[in-house]
Amino acid sequence: MLSVADALQVIISQVKPLASEALSLSAPLLGRVLASSYDSDIDSPPFTKSMMDGFAVRSIDCKTIGVTLEIVEEIPAGYFPKKTLGEKQAARIMTGAPLPQGADSIVPKEICEDSQDRVKVLSPIQAGEFVIYQGEEYERHETVLHSGVILQPQHIGLLAAIGQTSVNVHRLPSVAVLPTGSELVESPTLPTQGQIRNTNGPMLLAQVQRAGATPISYPIGRDDRQELREQIEKALSTADVLLLSGGVSVGKYDFIPEILSEVGATTHFHKVQMKPGRPILFATLDEKIIFGLPGNPVSSFACFELFVRPALRLLKGETVTGHTFVNLPLAQTFITNNNRPTYGPATITFTSEGPKVTAQSWFGSADLRGLGECNALIEVEAGQVNKKAGEGIRCLLL
Ligand code: AMP
Ligand code: MG
Repeated sequence: MLSVADALQVIISQVKPLASEALSLSAPLLGRVLASSYDSDIDSPPFTKSMMDGFAVRSIDCKTIGVTLEIVEEIPAGYFPKKTLGEKQAARIMTGAPLPQGADSIVPKEICEDSQDRVKVLSPIQAGEFVIYQGEEYERHETVLHSGVILQPQHIGLLAAIGQTSVNVHRLPSVAVLPTGSELVESPTLPTQGQIRNTNGPMLLAQVQRAGATPISYPIGRDDRQELREQIEKALSTADVLLLSGGVSVGKYDFIPEILSEVGATTHFHKVQMKPGRPILFATLDEKIIFGLPGNPVSSFACFELFVRPALRLLKGETVTGHTFVNLPLAQTFITNNNRPTYGPATITFTSEGPKVTAQSWFGSADLRGLGECNALIEVEAGQVNKKAGEGIRCLLL
């Protein structure tokens, strides 16, 4: 049976980024992944400019303390200087305004005494102080944003700086969520006679949303082979990804594995060496990605985070090479004994002494309330585990 890490490698080998689309710079772009690289159409800054409010000077005039210079021009931002500074001349200049010809340094206002047309410089000045030169940040035709960048606000600003009005990003995956099980009823229906409320459906839709993909809700599928097959085919025709919950194990009414092979999907794995969630199934049908998640809500939750979320990141165009676990200290003693590696819900709290991890007690339970403020999964090896408070544990941040 595959390990969790090997199962993710199978997913990585199968899932390719979705095609790109051009979106306006004013569209909601956060978290979208660049599908093209972008060059600047100008030098940045576009002209040599002052970084301070003060005076543009020739540093050669200001080698001693207390030199007095004649102010020959005022240069606010947005104005282009007309005069060239001569010996013992200065220009009043504002932050962001272009340096006049002849000047090679800025004296901040704070170290000057000035009147209308004279300025006394109270400190010796070196060449180049508080000056930023044309093209110092990047030059025209230089590539400043590379394909694969996950867009953050600063990148959007940078795209505007280099003259873009639209941007090529990978399409967002649409994800059909299809909960299955003849025992399921939708809230607020009161469950009777062996029924339970569908909790995985709403939870998975929210997990899809948190992963930055587009959720599509499908009605509950009953454990009826023909009916379920039709629902699966319909969902597959509308979405990039199909998330099935329930019906994926070895029970008499667990039809999902058979239906998937009937519709021509290739199953890449069915069962992973883990707890909870061992029966998880991963399949593809042409470009479509299919996950069969075990029905137990905690399993479904963990399998989504371990496998579905990385698959969605790959579709969005992100680079995924494996799970990124961070080692963080436990808040309390942690004792457990499992026959398989476990991936349990945990809560990381950020205290003044640094982050601390508290494991949630979820074993043998479909209890979502037990997930509490779960914001991480902890990886615990098989066998007897006895860790003291303060000892490190591997955490996958959600
Ligand atoms: P299954 O994977 O179909 O064998 O289901 C395993 C357990 O999870 C059973 O107790 C189901 O009733 C429960 N279950 C299945 N689907 C859901 C769901 N959508 N919401 C809540 N519990 C579910
Ligand atoms: Mg079932």
